[in-house]
Amino acid sequence: MIYCHKCAKKVKDGVSVCPICAETIVPELRDDEVRPLVQTLHKRSNYYRNWIDRGLSYIVIGSTLLIIGVIFYFLSFQSINTEEGQTLVLNKGTSEFWVFMVGVISGGTLLVVGSFLAIFFALKRRIIRYDVEAIRAHKSSHVDKAPSLFVVWGKAIHKFFKELVWKIKRRSHKAKDNKVSS
Ligand SMILES: [Zn+2]
Repeated sequence: MIYCHKCAKKVKDGVSVCPICAETIVPELRDDEVRPLVQTLHKRSNYYRNWIDRGLSYIVIGSTLLIIGVIFYFLSFQSINTEEGQTLVLNKGTSEFWVFMVGVISGGTLLVVGSFLAIFFALKRRIIRYDVEAIRAHKSSHVDKAPSLFVVWGKAIHKFFKELVWKIKRRSHKAKDNKVSS
């Protein structure tokens, strides 16, 4: 993928003219072209950041409404007298039950929408940040595909266990050395 240095539109390899601003697309960037492109991408990244924050606040509000809803579900039970004594039954006619319904539906919706926004824009932001690094490092608007998150996490987990095994081995070696010397 290549960025248009003028409007920061990302196009496929081999596209020679920007479909948005009609600028000729050349991967190699002059020094004075790197800065404006990076700045435009930073602005885009901040825009995504705002959407991530919005998503996170929806998650917080949604969870709160859900918890309130669940509390009111239990408040909707009323004790009634029967021949066998008192029992609790769910009374769907109470205002508590309506609070439960509204809380769960609105809270659940906010939670789903918020999670979607936060994840969607976090993934988009991750690619932009990866691209900015590449553009700065190579002074070229041609960027490789960002490595998949599964690959990144897989490598991190692999590294963690490798270091853990190494630490355990070193500790047992030290214990052996101590025994020998004493
Ligand atoms: Zn363009």
